[in-house]
Amino acid sequence: MKKKLSLPAQIAIALLLGIVVGLICLFIEGGPDFTTNWLKPFGDIFVNLLKFIVVPVVLFSMIDGILSMDNMKKVGSVGVKTVCFFLITTAIACVIGLVCANVFDGMGLFPHLSVEAAEYEAKEFGGVMATVVAIFPTNMWQSFSAANMLQVIVIALFFGGAIMAAGEKGKLCRDIVTSFYSVIERLMMFVISLAPIGVFTYMAWVVATQGPEILGSLALVLLCAYIGYVIHALVVYSAAASAIAKVNPAKFFKGAFAAMMFAFTSTSSAATLPVSKECAHELGADDEVAAFVLPLGSTINMDGTAIYQCVATVFIASCANMQLTIGQMVIVVLTATLASIGTAGVSGAGMIMLAMVLETLGIPVAYIGLIVAVDRLFDMGRTCLNVTGDISCSLCVSHMEAKKLQGKR
Ligand code: ASP
Repeated sequence: MKKKLSLPAQIAIALLLGIVVGLICLFIEGGPDFTTNWLKPFGDIFVNLLKFIVVPVVLFSMIDGILSMDNMKKVGSVGVKTVCFFLITTAIACVIGLVCANVFDGMGLFPHLSVEAAEYEAKEFGGVMATVVAIFPTNMWQSFSAANMLQVIVIALFFGGAIMAAGEKGKLCRDIVTSFYSVIERLMMFVISLAPIGVFTYMAWVVATQGPEILGSLALVLLCAYIGYVIHALVVYSAAASAIAKVNPAKFFKGAFAAMMFAFTSTSSAATLPVSKECAHELGADDEVAAFVLPLGSTINMDGTAIYQCVATVFIASCANMQLTIGQMVIVVLTATLASIGTAGVSGAGMIMLAMVLETLGIPVAYIGLIVAVDRLFDMGRTCLNVTGDISCSLCVSHMEAKKLQGKR
């Protein structure tokens, strides 16, 4: 019986084949045009599908996420501390990602591509208050059809809250959301399974039209993201673990190592959950706290994903010959934080949410094709960081709760 190649293996083969075909086309007469006219359209279909599913994925995953926090009220102070830890560390992750990316961009390490550059028209930043007002939708269908992601997120927050508030009477809506979300998740998996086609066709087109130098640029953007991952792990998580949970950094990383490695290879926070639980237990986290923090973290706490989205956004903006303003960077922090919360803990999900961040900023989503080609390599590092964050949070919250109990006695 023939064994089917795994998705990562298919993507790796597609990547290499794309480079080889791109190089061949680069040197033959009419080759670059062939890739533009006959290969790129298939990549475009893949990117269209990514765009097509992004609104339903964001809408249903956010509502579903809010509904899964329903028991947060019961968990009380543990819930509040956990969500605060997640939000603060994710916002710091975005800042680290943006700083690293801007340093790389400032040093001229990110490319400026010639193709389609003229099509982009910069969105003006109308000021903080105007941006805040514009987040609130007047017509929900318009928000969906324009794929205005911040508005879609606000709609999801309102519906999620309202379904929860409606209690028993909202049960039908709750079931519909859960059921729709499972269907959308299948659809997302299907689109992700088409990644090898996107990788092959875009890689061949990019190499044939831009020359082999583009491969160096992809290596650099990967390096930039990994520098961000390492800084965040070393500075934020070990500082939190030692300052709050009184676990020294060496012990922390040694204890979390098994989960980090499992996440690195599986690229799924959700699949790593049993291993993270074991590691958190060994490191001394309270089992009840960990039972709440880790599953929630594997769905909403994605600092690696946030760093990746910031780095990739600056990189793609540079490819499209645009310079992000400070105002736009603020929007990147906001959308990447929300996008990482909305990212499912499965392989490749962060790439779909990247489409949302680009869409919000008006950066041509078609350039995502460049990143798609090497997304798996980003995903390994970001998932590893995501899981480390969940374990660090479970230790910190356990320690704070234990201290509170001691204080009461
Ligand atoms: N694979 C990541 C995770 O499971 C999510 C992502 O694609 O960013 O944590």
